[in-house]
Amino acid sequence: MYYEFLQSHMGINAQVASFVAETETTLKEKFNSLDTIAGVNQLKILQAMQETRLSDTHFNGSTGYGYHDEGREALEAIFAHIFKAEAALVRPQLISGTHALATALFGNLRPGDTLFSPVGSPYDTLESVIGIRNATGSLAEYGVIYRQADLTKDGQFDYNAIHEILDTAPKMVTIQRSKGYSWRPSFTVADIRGLIQCIRTRSPHTIILVDNCYGEFVQTDEPIEADLIAGSLIKNPGGGLAPGGGYVVGKQKYVNGAAHRLTAPGLGGAVGPTMGMTRTLMQGLFLAPQTVCAAIKGAILAAAVFSRLGFDVNPLVDDQRSDIVQAIKLKNPENVLAFCRGIQKAAPVDSFVTPEPAPMPGYAHGVIMAGGTFVQGSSIELSADAPMREPYTVYFQGGLTAPHSCAGVVYALDELYKQGRITL
Ligand SMILES: *Cc1c(COP(=O)(O)O)cnc(C)c1O
Repeated sequence: MYYEFLQSHMGINAQVASFVAETETTLKEKFNSLDTIAGVNQLKILQAMQETRLSDTHFNGSTGYGYHDEGREALEAIFAHIFKAEAALVRPQLISGTHALATALFGNLRPGDTLFSPVGSPYDTLESVIGIRNATGSLAEYGVIYRQADLTKDGQFDYNAIHEILDTAPKMVTIQRSKGYSWRPSFTVADIRGLIQCIRTRSPHTIILVDNCYGEFVQTDEPIEADLIAGSLIKNPGGGLAPGGGYVVGKQKYVNGAAHRLTAPGLGGAVGPTMGMTRTLMQGLFLAPQTVCAAIKGAILAAAVFSRLGFDVNPLVDDQRSDIVQAIKLKNPENVLAFCRGIQKAAPVDSFVTPEPAPMPGYAHGVIMAGGTFVQGSSIELSADAPMREPYTVYFQGGLTAPHSCAGVVYALDELYKQGRITL
């Protein structure tokens, strides 16, 4: 019915529709196990809300300084509960994942300290935060030294290089869970746990931060062994409803460091108005496991469809997932454009516009971004991004419902097909 409707009512080519339909039938078992993960995460969030005694009164927002905002305190207690953390900072004033990460870094690093990435180069926007790429106000400008151990050729931790740097006892380590815009495996929670164990053994005083963007609720556990975890509310944990915001959770002392950086030294987390957003943030969090599950169904379908057509995909259909991102090597810029235009056509908002590559603040290359989203830039909603550089890899993610995420795959394929870029 679903694929027939796409074909008979939405202008999708018949061969495209049946190719995707056929592919989807092979994924039933995988989809079932995703439902199980979503179920566990749903219960985890339910329990956190119950134990925090979440109540209607928490949805009254605050304005101005936001002193004694009980809703904000409840939201932070719920995040802390979910991440088994001492404290949380969950704020609409954190405008993105980059901002949450920058706040955690600046709040805990001081001039002369070393920040170490044992997982190769960080996400593009972190390059300017750290100062790998020149930027006003970067950590480098404040005299923070950055070191990096690249991954091995097959994308694994290079423990020789890691040990060598750990022996210098860096102040802080940053571990990126998701691949971001790179072709490496996303690390599972178990991978990260192993790496954290190694860091604790060799350099026990190092503060460990995990960039958890795109990773929340993909597995039944989170990298809770870290001292700090940060992410964006317009990705997984906002459930598609959060109109903005970010989070930092972890040890009280380090979350405090971030809070005093976010507001002002001396103020910390005691201020910060929620301006009427608390109910939506709570509701989004509550829906997040289901939304994440929907997004991963689309990602797996994309992997299955495009690998069947001979494109390299990462992760593979059978790989364990640790984030919602599906990378597909489309080989040339024309394919990238067609794919992204297909995604745009599948959007509920701005379906009639044509995405073009453009320079983006924080990114070194031109980037094409497709996504007609209810929340600007939300990438838990159906979206695709591609830096316009070799080997023309597109990153597909999101979808508030599984039928929409899967429609994204159909529309992208349809566009490639109609432009004569693939044969079925
Ligand atoms: C999205 C993302 C970020 C932060 O990006 P924002 O667009 O600022 O939210 C950082 N790291 C990773 C791995 C990401 O996926």
